[in-house]
Amino acid sequence: MSDPTNAGAPARRTARGRFRFREYHVTTVPDTLALPTVTAECVTGEGHNCGATSGPLHTPDELTRWIAEHCATTGHQDYEQTVRSALRAEPGAWQ
Ligand SMILES: [Zn+2]
Repeated sequence: MSDPTNAGAPARRTARGRFRFREYHVTTVPDTLALPTVTAECVTGEGHNCGATSGPLHTPDELTRWIAEHCATTGHQDYEQTVRSALRAEPGAWQ
């Protein structure tokens, strides 16, 4: 059997749990380092969605343009957007 514990984590026992966890601050990486992307998917349809996707876009204008073009050619009006942005964990003090 393999050891299920994380070899990199300190294994101190406490009254409330087996381990002490390091506190992390998770922050959004500034736009200059990693542009958030947004993807639109057409969910128009009875029974099953159209499923057409825009691919990753970087501005609301690009998103609107893709939806407008798709709507113009298909008449589809229902979409979902997925926003993807980079996060960074900043190790904090041990608690
Ligand atoms: Zn569609």
